[in-house]
Amino acid sequence: MDSTDSSCFFSIYQGPQLAMSQKKQTTTTYRLKIREDMLTAAFAAFSNRQATMAWGKVYRSYCGSKCDLIVRELRFTRSLPTGDQHSPLFDWILIHAPTGQQQGEILNRISQSHVRMGQLMVYFEPGNGQQFDQWVGAVIGHDELQPLHTLQLIGPGLPRYRRAKPRTKSRTHRQPSKTTSEEWSRQIDVLGEQVFQKFRYTEVLFIGCGGLGSLMISSMVRKGLKRATLVDHDDLEIHNRPRTVGNQPQDVGKAKALVLGRYLHRIRPESLLTLITKPVEDASVFDRFRRANVVISCVDNDDCRRYIAQRCAEFLCVNLDLGTMVARATGPTGNVPAVADNPLIISADVRLLIPGACSACIGTLENSSNTTSAVAQDWQAGGRVGSLPSINLMAVGTAIQMYLSFLAGQINGSFWQRMSWDDERGLTTSAGRVTGDPRCPICRPQ
Ligand SMILES: [Zn+2]
Repeated sequence: MDSTDSSCFFSIYQGPQLAMSQKKQTTTTYRLKIREDMLTAAFAAFSNRQATMAWGKVYRSYCGSKCDLIVRELRFTRSLPTGDQHSPLFDWILIHAPTGQQQGEILNRISQSHVRMGQLMVYFEPGNGQQFDQWVGAVIGHDELQPLHTLQLIGPGLPRYRRAKPRTKSRTHRQPSKTTSEEWSRQIDVLGEQVFQKFRYTEVLFIGCGGLGSLMISSMVRKGLKRATLVDHDDLEIHNRPRTVGNQPQDVGKAKALVLGRYLHRIRPESLLTLITKPVEDASVFDRFRRANVVISCVDNDDCRRYIAQRCAEFLCVNLDLGTMVARATGPTGNVPAVADNPLIISADVRLLIPGACSACIGTLENSSNTTSAVAQDWQAGGRVGSLPSINLMAVGTAIQMYLSFLAGQINGSFWQRMSWDDERGLTTSAGRVTGDPRCPICRPQ
């Protein structure tokens, strides 16, 4: 058997209890979604001979005929785990160290796993040399054995590997089509075709269409982003107009998301934009978390950030979070009221949060006295004097570059960039890798 052609595997297997599904028209498309560092850790354990298998709970997330199989944690073992140790509702994954992918051995292993009625079990085995792009995957359940179609890794570059495309060595979302359009040529010259295509076709969920959000969204759609969902339940007010992109005088009183969507449609009629005018907690937004691998948040309170962090942890989404603040200094103790003569504090935070870290647990940047929470508390406690397009522009430019570097695989972990404007020193910045707290109740498995 060609070790990389898993379709061959399924054409041969016709076990008495696990008959291959013949319902090709209605077959669910399965995608395994897992953190890259988690899978790498499993491979390391196999190499060190600490374990020969890894297993863990699987969470199903359906979207039409597609089903994401989400893995949030793995345990390592040398003895074959079996389904009869768990309840019928327990879906699980078995990752086996490479064995040359001999189908007889694999089928034997699956049979010995005693998958219970009601359970879904995912079998995954990397290729020799533990290659990500040479794997065999199967989904066992409902008395059927079906192929695993896609491996989606959540990590730098968001690498994705499809089944039965064995000769594809690139870590791409799709085989790059030769873009002939002159329109994209300058970006492709700099980014390369693969990174540009990844930018163009990665579905993004945007939360917040205010001054900062509208600038971020419009910049990315203009640059070629093809599929996006825009969420904001606020209406446009007269004081929003100078800082918010894409509105006209008659738009005051209309939903921000709809006003921005209409503007973007004129810029990029080919883009597929979904506009939601409900709060972020609404079920319609919840459904969009299922579809997106990337969530870009431009919100101004920590409750909303916390909710987004929870959903990103649940569905393994990367969260790019932007926040800006313009306030008057309130004195050394914080008790002195902000007065007009006090100096302005102008700052922005841009954070790329990869699952395993969230805005609630990444702590602080080195040499920084403020945490994310402190920024939000300052906002709520007063002293904030408004918003400036200038700091929003700095934040958006930084965020887009951070995102592109992430898609190119150049940023290999959660990352925080802070910018501050001081009238004497000008722009000062600090940046660095940040890590999550393993005990975080929000972003770590419960
Ligand atoms: Zn966390």
